Amino acid sequence: MKHCLLSWWRRCFARDANANFAAVDWGRLCRQIPLLQGLNGDELEQLQRLALQFLRQKSITPLGVRPRPEQLAAMALQACLPILYLGLDWYRNFYEIILLPAPVERHEELAFGEGWQEEGSSHLGEAWEQGPVVLVWPEVLHDGQWDGYHLVIHELVHKLDMLADGVANGMPPERPGVPIARWQRELETVYAEVCRCHEAAQACCLDEQACDGLDELFAIASECFFSQPLALQAQFPELYRLLALWYQQDPAQRQPRETRRRHGHAALAG
Ligand SMILES: [Zn+2]
Repeated sequence: MKHCLLSWWRRCFARDANANFAAVDWGRLCRQIPLLQGLNGDELEQLQRLALQFLRQKSITPLGVRPRPEQLAAMALQACLPILYLGLDWYRNFYEIILLPAPVERHEELAFGEGWQEEGSSHLGEAWEQGPVVLVWPEVLHDGQWDGYHLVIHELVHKLDMLADGVANGMPPERPGVPIARWQRELETVYAEVCRCHEAAQACCLDEQACDGLDELFAIASECFFSQPLALQAQFPELYRLLALWYQQDPAQRQPRETRRRHGHAALAG
């Protein structure tokens, strides 16, 4: 059904996304994105190289929206932040990014007691196994702040997660210095603590959506790692340390102290 709907949308609304990025002032764009503050000159150059390759390699399909070239460039810069020290090959398991004008509404029949109950949910983004990444374009435009929330990073981390065995389960490929058994133990420990915090209505820098499973915990912790790293480091220092080893980055060194918040995740990404 999803595929039929998207085919119909494509026929009706798809626009040529082969924008010309030659006119994009990459340096100015980087300075306008708060999340890129603190990256050094070499890192910004590498990020721009990756972003251009990303835009060349990935097929971007806007359905009912008209992104400008500099907006797509800003999205690509931030999309490449997690793989700044890994390389674009880590995004080899998807080819298409679909941009939608509004959240995806899902209605599912769930077992409830002895019967069934219909539950609706709203998604700002989705990462399909063996399929594209779907993003709600107006929400993508909110990305880039030190606010703990980042739709593009969230969905692309699901794709990194799927690289190991094709499914999102919080277990991405093993990285040097991060044995997968150590990673799993820490994720399970943090998962229990996040769920306990939310059940007790205590402050937590990770959104309640992290309690949906280790896959969501990995995606939400990564959002926080890149866009509220000081809060993550303060509350879950060992998880922060493992993520820093995994991504080979230390964003807490980049975050301006005055932008630290105790909370910061809007739960709608899928
Ligand atoms: Zn998710």
